[in-house]
Amino acid sequence: MGEQRAMMKQTDQTTDVIVIGAGAAGMMAACQAALCGARVLLLEKNEKAGKKIYITGKGRCNFTNACETEDFFENVPQNASFLYSSVYSFDPHAVIEWFEAHGVRTKIERGLRAFPQSDHASDITRCLEKEMRRLGVEIRLNTEVEKLLLSDSLNEVGGVCLKGGARLLSRCVIVAAGGLSYPSTGSTGDGYRFARETGHTVGRLSPSLVPFEVQEEDIRKLQGLSLKNVVFTVYGRKQKLFREMGEMMFTHFGVTGPLVLSASARVQDAIAASSLQAQIDLKPALPQEKLDARILREFDSNRNRSLRNALRGLYPSTLVPVIIERAGIDPEKPVHDVTAAERKALILHTKQFALTITALRGFGEAVITHGGVSVRQIDPGTMESKLVQGLFFAGEVLDVDALTGGFNLQIAWSTGHAAGAAAAERAGRCSSPPCC
Ligand SMILES: Cc1cc2nc3c(=O)[nH]c(=O)nc-3n(C[C@H](O)[C@H](O)[C@H](O)COP(=O)(O)OP(=O)(O)OC[C@H]3O[C@@H](n4cnc5c(N)ncnc54)[C@H](O)[C@@H]3O)c2cc1C
Repeated sequence: MGEQRAMMKQTDQTTDVIVIGAGAAGMMAACQAALCGARVLLLEKNEKAGKKIYITGKGRCNFTNACETEDFFENVPQNASFLYSSVYSFDPHAVIEWFEAHGVRTKIERGLRAFPQSDHASDITRCLEKEMRRLGVEIRLNTEVEKLLLSDSLNEVGGVCLKGGARLLSRCVIVAAGGLSYPSTGSTGDGYRFARETGHTVGRLSPSLVPFEVQEEDIRKLQGLSLKNVVFTVYGRKQKLFREMGEMMFTHFGVTGPLVLSASARVQDAIAASSLQAQIDLKPALPQEKLDARILREFDSNRNRSLRNALRGLYPSTLVPVIIERAGIDPEKPVHDVTAAERKALILHTKQFALTITALRGFGEAVITHGGVSVRQIDPGTMESKLVQGLFFAGEVLDVDALTGGFNLQIAWSTGHAAGAAAAERAGRCSSPPCC
């Protein structure tokens, strides 16, 4: 921190609020601070704003979830209570109204996921850029912040130092530099460095909403296989960590898909300690006795055929040899020779298809970062640091994360909105936020 001292003598520019990062949180913060009357400078190291927004929701941007606000928090496994104030102040319905009021027609899909009606994520970015221009936010692209400037006493922010050495002074700085996921979009963890260098605690960082690596060799034969309406269960040492019905897919390294991504958010601590056991119920609609009756029906209509051929009506074709091998049966055995014990083994491996999860995939494949700036050091109403006056954090850089469904962008909008309004007030531009 010593390096941060006495850096506020020479200036290139003075403004009220500097926002670091033109992602979802940074652009919303800039809009809100400017709306509250602050002079705002937004600094983005990429050549364009909102690079990550373009790839959200497979290019369609699931920008929030139209759930009731109370239900929102059930989708936030990490530090949900920290978000009460900011999310109640700018909740999913307010976000939808905000985008509608700023010219984005929206639609609600399965699971209350909200999208631009056009199915173009670019509508969201363009809308934010247009609003920032209207409000007079100065946007500097290709501009990378190197470090934060603090007062001599180290408890007040004074501005930022850019890569190359230029210093920009401001009353407030909002760090909205994102996490570590998909670093190609610009989120390379700089926000965590800024936080640590100014005395903040940054909790363990790990990829979340991310595929699993699996130990069993036979799953390589299933690469590309998609399963719908299966139940996926992950066990910790003492209890069930996750159990849901949905879709998943096998890959060359393990498993992915909506169920797996959701599970990854629930196993963060457990997987850090050891590998985990998981099971897929491939036929959740059929209890064991019904499944047995179904298998017998398949055998009946495939008399004299091999087990391998007889099971094709029951499982996807790539799964048939894997299930038979796991059950320890000769695939060429005629169905009339298959014993009751062998049927029992087939049922077992169908209802409890076992996987050993050895690791999470990396940040390059993770939708979000788990961990971040300790929320104990941040005021939940304003997003201002409790250690450094005038310094705010918003978005993925914070130690909060949610499940898929639009909840993570909602966190970015809500925390950005709160930080923007509060920074304008701290800069003396707005006496009663939210002013609008
Ligand atoms: C593939 C993918 C799909 C997703 N889909 C969805 C979805 O549909 N719905 C949903 O809710 N969430 C989704 N997410 C998660 C969501 O995108 C993030 O939670 C959200 O974008 C975080 O916003 P942010 O503003 O905090 O950070 P970011 O969007 O990462 O923005 C941070 C910005 O800061 C800039 N920056 C970093 N360091 C510096 C520096 N030193 N100087 C200047 N600028 C800097 C970066 O270049 C970047 O532009 C998805 C994520 C991924 C990776």
